[in-house]
Parts: sequence; structure tokens; C-alpha cells
Amino acid sequence: MGTLDGKAALVTGGSRGIGRAICLELARQGARVAVNYQSQAGAAEAVVEEIKQAGGEAFAVQGDVSDAEAAGAIVKATVDQFGGLDILVNNAGITRDGLLMRMTEADWDAVHNTNLRGAFLVTKAAMRPMLRAKAGRIINIASVVGVMGNAGQANYAAAKAGLVGFTRAVAREVASRGITVNAIAPGFIKTDITADLTEAQVDAVLAQIPLARLAEADEVSPLVAFLAGDGARYITGQCIQVDGGMVMA
Ligand code: NAP
Repeated sequence: MGTLDGKAALVTGGSRGIGRAICLELARQGARVAVNYQSQAGAAEAVVEEIKQAGGEAFAVQGDVSDAEAAGAIVKATVDQFGGLDILVNNAGITRDGLLMRMTEADWDAVHNTNLRGAFLVTKAAMRPMLRAKAGRIINIASVVGVMGNAGQANYAAAKAGLVGFTRAVAREVASRGITVNAIAPGFIKTDITADLTEAQVDAVLAQIPLARLAEADEVSPLVAFLAGDGARYITGQCIQVDGGMVMA
């Protein structure tokens, strides 16, 4: 028996990295999982297969979260498959790093479209089934960079800070309807996003982390499962850091 037995979950960007770990953890706790991805169908199918091999239920659903029609279709596919939507994890995210003076409008827009507009569109689409059920859990994957800033990531920091504001506004809007909305701000996690950091960049980051290491993706996913479960029913509008102590407040 898991803490999320029978719950229907949608994880955007569930094919790789942190999203993949979240899909596996939610399934381990008994949830049925829709694994959204944008382009890497093989990676998404591998997550689905891993969940099925372990006795769980999952399916892959392609769609670009920054596209309104696609966002609606992703949610619809989940509801059609599972008969409802209990848990939404807005995890899909990208980086397009560069110093402000050299940052192009395209890099600014791309990051905002996926990381912030995508969460808005998918959450909006998810509202209908959650309001109908008078229950729901929404968990937005922000970033420590949105809390403390990071040189070379003005677009990403702004989008992630925006996601925290979005989290709190929606939490207030839907609290009376039995829906909680929280954010998680991971620090530096070993995924494809951080794979390109140079040794010097990693050393600079490590100097800021009291626990003195980068984290694995499965060190974020247990908190997602907790926030999705009954034990977190009195928690809403929060942004919780999973960052080895980078931010203490
Ligand atoms: P990742 O390994 O690069 O995986 C990104 C995932 O997002 C993939 O599944 C990708 O799908 C999906 N995706 C990207 N754009 C999408 C779109 N427009 N529509 C739908 N799916 C899309 O990234 P990660 O490191 O696991 O990051 C996951 C989340 O955590 C992001 O929001 C990121 O900002 C946040 N985060 C990461 C770190 C870190 O250190 N890694 C720290 C703080 C916060 P495809 O496989 O199809 O490309």
C-alpha cells in the first residue's frame, strides 16, 4: 500500500532528470502516472516501461506545454485515461543561459514560454477536473536560482521567481476548493541541465552549498510525493528548498 494509491498524476517533462524521478516515486507510492515529454519519446516510454515492470500504471503523452492547445490536450489525455486528475506536477523546464548584455529575446522568450507560460497553461487546463472533484494537488518545480539569483541566468531566475508568485496566487484562489498549490525550489541536481557545467562552475557552486555536493534527482522526488499526499493537506502556497542548504530562510 502506497500513500498515493489509485491517484491520477500528470508530470510535465517526466521523461528525464527530476521529472523522471518524480514519475517513478509517485508510481512507487501507488499513483497512476501520465509521463509528459516534448521530443524524447524513447526516454518517456522507458519511464513508462520501468513503472509497468514494477507493477504500476503509466502512459506517455507527448506535448509542448508552452502551446495552449497542446497543454489542454495533455490534460485531456490524462483525464480520459485515468478518469480524473488528482496530482499535477509542473516540472517541464529549460535553460538558455547567457549574460544579460548578450541574452537574446529568443532566449528570454523560450525560457519564459516553457518554464512559466507552460505551468500557467497546464494548470489552467487542470483546474476544471480538480474544481469538479473539489480536490487536487499542484506542485510546481521552481529553482533556488529564482530565490537567490544567478549570474548568467536572468531569464531563468525571472521565470522561476514568477513561478513562485504564480504558485502563491493560485494557492489563494483555489484553497477554498480543496486544492493545494506548492512549489519546490531544487538547488543543483545532476541531470542533463547541469551536465554542461564546467569544472570551475561546479567548484563555484559547491562553495555555496553547505552539504558540499550536487544532489541526485531522487533527492527531490520524495518531497513531491509528500506534498501530493494526505500528510500535506494543511500545506499550501509554500516554496520549499531542496538545495543542500544554499538558501536558509
Ligand atoms: P532535464 O533533465 O533537461 O529534463 C527536462 C524535461 O522537460 C524533459 O523531460 C523534457 O522533455 C521536458 N521538456 C522541456 N521542454 C518542454 C516543453 N516545452 N514541453 C514539455 N516538456 C518539456 O531537466 P531537469 O534538470 O530534470 O529539470 C526539471 C525541472 O527542474 C525544470 O523545471 C528545471 O528548471 C528544474 N530545476 C532543475 C535543477 C537542476 O539542477 N537540474 C535545479 C533547479 C530546478 P524531452 O525529454 O522530450 O526533451
